[in-house]
Amino acid sequence: MRVHLINPSHSAFGVAVITPRWLFVLAGATPRMYGDPLLVDESLDPFDPATVQPGDVVGISIHTGNALRGYDVGKAARARGAWVVYGGIHATLFPDEPRTVGAAHVVVTGDGDAIWATVLADCAKGAPEPLYAAGRVPGDQMVPARWDLMRRDKYMWASVQTVRGCPKHCSFCSVWRTDGQAPRLRGNEAVIAEVVELRRLGFRFIALADDNFYPVTRADLAQAGRRQDRTRLLELEAMRHDRLDLMRRMAGLPSDMVFFTQITMEASEDHEFLDAMRAARIKGALVGVEAITPAGLKDVYKGFNATGDALVARLRTFRAHDIHVLGSFIFGLPSDRPSTFGATAALANKADITFAQFLMLTPFPGTVDFDRWAAGVDAEQQNVDGIPYSRHWLIPRGRRPHVYTQHPAMSPDEIRQFTQRTWDQFYSIGSVWRRSKCVTSVRGRLAFVLVSKLYRQMYANTGITTDSNRMARSVKWSRWIAAPLQRLFAGTPMPGLEMPEAEVSEPAA
Ligand code: SF4
Repeated sequence: MRVHLINPSHSAFGVAVITPRWLFVLAGATPRMYGDPLLVDESLDPFDPATVQPGDVVGISIHTGNALRGYDVGKAARARGAWVVYGGIHATLFPDEPRTVGAAHVVVTGDGDAIWATVLADCAKGAPEPLYAAGRVPGDQMVPARWDLMRRDKYMWASVQTVRGCPKHCSFCSVWRTDGQAPRLRGNEAVIAEVVELRRLGFRFIALADDNFYPVTRADLAQAGRRQDRTRLLELEAMRHDRLDLMRRMAGLPSDMVFFTQITMEASEDHEFLDAMRAARIKGALVGVEAITPAGLKDVYKGFNATGDALVARLRTFRAHDIHVLGSFIFGLPSDRPSTFGATAALANKADITFAQFLMLTPFPGTVDFDRWAAGVDAEQQNVDGIPYSRHWLIPRGRRPHVYTQHPAMSPDEIRQFTQRTWDQFYSIGSVWRRSKCVTSVRGRLAFVLVSKLYRQMYANTGITTDSNRMARSVKWSRWIAAPLQRLFAGTPMPGLEMPEAEVSEPAA
């Protein structure tokens, strides 16, 4: 019985930006008695069903964006006589769908880390359960990835997770509902061991693939203090201490390493945390700005963000600590008007952010926004060839409508055109070259320009455009540029690298 793990993708680029972490984690959770799993990342090369033999197990992880491709993979694997197992966020949200659409024998909901060995043992006995509700594993049971199975020359950045879950509750995000609002921190020793292994292999750039790297804010601590909730206060302080400890250890890693993560804007008010990030060489962070007006922030339940000059000041604070911001903005909020687009682009420039993404408000399954939107389109019985709009990911890609929430003042086409124009402005060659001054060497500036262009091609054009020629050109261009970039990011392997010393420090009393 051979184990196959497939990361489905509609487009293959030959080289990928970030390693799909789940693939290597589930490989790590596969007992050695089954041999090394065969890993297929379709963002590199397509899956070949001929590699599957009767009785093999094929594990497929799906999110909403790649679910339809995942179902094609599952059907092909089942036709070859394999046990077909689905997991991932989408399977967790819609556990019946992989069975009815994707020929599943088994669906695993929640984290696969601990349950995977049981699923495999049951398949080996020929009697798997149809559903395994795995729930959320605690941080100390999160499985380290099998990086020895990775194709080293195919990825620019590796990914290591340090925490799952986020205490916030943004209306457009499913993380707090699927991964939970109680942050689950991995042990720092396990995190550092993975980072060291990756640097030994030659990875200098690592994404900390966390839902929210900053799970305890100054405001959380103050609130627990005000409530005189000593137990909660100690718990929060321990968590904060753990984060700072992790960064102290990261500071002892080789000086050519660079990390990137995702945090909330509240971190800008916590200078001790930002100083620790600088020392740990966390040089980039995705910050969810979302909207630049109070009404926009209210639309997405993100009242803890700032607006106007205070927003500019907060974003600049990151830069003052040598942390480059990838600002994430959402367009199409009910309070947006045509003037919002230009004002957002102007703020992005004024705030000195290094990269930006401008997303159109999309009701993703698992979110509060989706529930509201789906109830509306279901009531109107909107569908394409009998497939309801509220299951839009099942509509063949060529016929799939772009799905947006109704807007009180603009049509979807207007929002799309304004959004595309904002990407065009922010990533015009002049603007990118001006921002590239943040690196000093010519080689570094050229790399910056290429990364900016790649980012824009991969995420803007393929996500927004309705023109299939433009989409095809984007994929071709990305394939062409990705290979040389991968070589720019690679470092010389350091097979003899030791673990950095663990400093013993006590949490504040
Ligand atoms: S958008 Fe970010 S801050 Fe908001 S719930 Fe999701 S992970 Fe948390």
